[in-house]
Amino acid sequence: MLAPDSLSKIYIDRRLTETPLVANISERAGNTPLVFTDDPEGVLRHYRENSAATQKDILIVRHFPGRFLSACPGSDGMVCCNYAVFNLGYGCLFDCHYCYLQQFLNSPVQTLYGNLDDLFAELDFKTRNPRVHFRIGTGEYTDSLALDPLTGLSRFLVNYFASLPNATLELKTKSSNVELLLDLDHRGHTVVAWSINPESVIENLEPGTASLSERLAAACKVVEAGYQVALHLDPLIYFEGWEKEYHNLLDQVFDAISPDRVRWISLGTYRYAPGLKEKVQARGPDRMLTGPEMVQAKDGKYRYLKTIRSQMYVSVRKKIETIDPALFSYLCMETRRTWQDVVGSVPDSKKNLDLLFEDRRRALASADSSSGSGRVTPA
Ligand code: SF4
Repeated sequence: MLAPDSLSKIYIDRRLTETPLVANISERAGNTPLVFTDDPEGVLRHYRENSAATQKDILIVRHFPGRFLSACPGSDGMVCCNYAVFNLGYGCLFDCHYCYLQQFLNSPVQTLYGNLDDLFAELDFKTRNPRVHFRIGTGEYTDSLALDPLTGLSRFLVNYFASLPNATLELKTKSSNVELLLDLDHRGHTVVAWSINPESVIENLEPGTASLSERLAAACKVVEAGYQVALHLDPLIYFEGWEKEYHNLLDQVFDAISPDRVRWISLGTYRYAPGLKEKVQARGPDRMLTGPEMVQAKDGKYRYLKTIRSQMYVSVRKKIETIDPALFSYLCMETRRTWQDVVGSVPDSKKNLDLLFEDRRRALASADSSSGSGRVTPA
């Protein structure tokens, strides 16, 4: 797995010099040069103008003047789960062939926002309605834990969310970087999530990420530390033998983790916006992603034919049900018609789907309190 020591240079906005985040980075950067700058915009401009390609080995830690929190961008006409994201930076150390950031970002380097006090003030304000339970994640424009051994960011976030009674933080990753999470008093307010795929897909399409066995070993460690986990079978990739491989994958996962520690499972078949296919093809021959026929949906994105998507969802959901019917899974960014075909119903509003998340949260919290584990603090 690629580690933060693969960075070749770290630029730091001088305004952040005294922050605990920058203290962590200074202490852990090892041989990677740190360059303090008064002009992070200028640094970005330099790389934009002079880099032909993505430069994942460059990190800029800077002050963010805007709003951190937003609704998950979702997709037009697709059923949405009412998730919120806070944008703590963009770009990623890893290099998944299907990653939409390849086309979405206009910066060749990785960026991390370091003014955490502003983030926490905004979160305090946004989560002030005690009747709502918020699900908030950081893994939309980057991997939540890829740089954690360098930044220690997870510790600030988990500690902050431990004090918020009505929110769950989701840290979503393809890494195995969980060491800094293990001794925290998280109070059950953080869910650590892994995007998973069969090892053959990881080897072919997810360079730089942790292997499946490394991800599962990391998941076992956080479960041991009292966290709940979530799983994202997203993207589900259609290839010869997919069904057997995804079923085996689920067996491997649940041999390692008890179903009652898994808060939710998202399912989403591979999809892409116009322009990504050319980026994938530019990497070289790749039958896994470019072989199957794709059709353009209402939101402009290309997806597998509806029959294939439904077949994959039905098969994977059945497998999940045989493992434990109480496991909660949902379809991510899918059409109402596919929901109807696969699940037999369509959540009639964002809130409706949100309630299913709430049911699962409460069910696990009550199971934990009746078993006396004390691992989760119900809000
Ligand atoms: S881990 Fe996520 S953000 Fe990073 S390259 Fe892969 S898909 Fe993109």
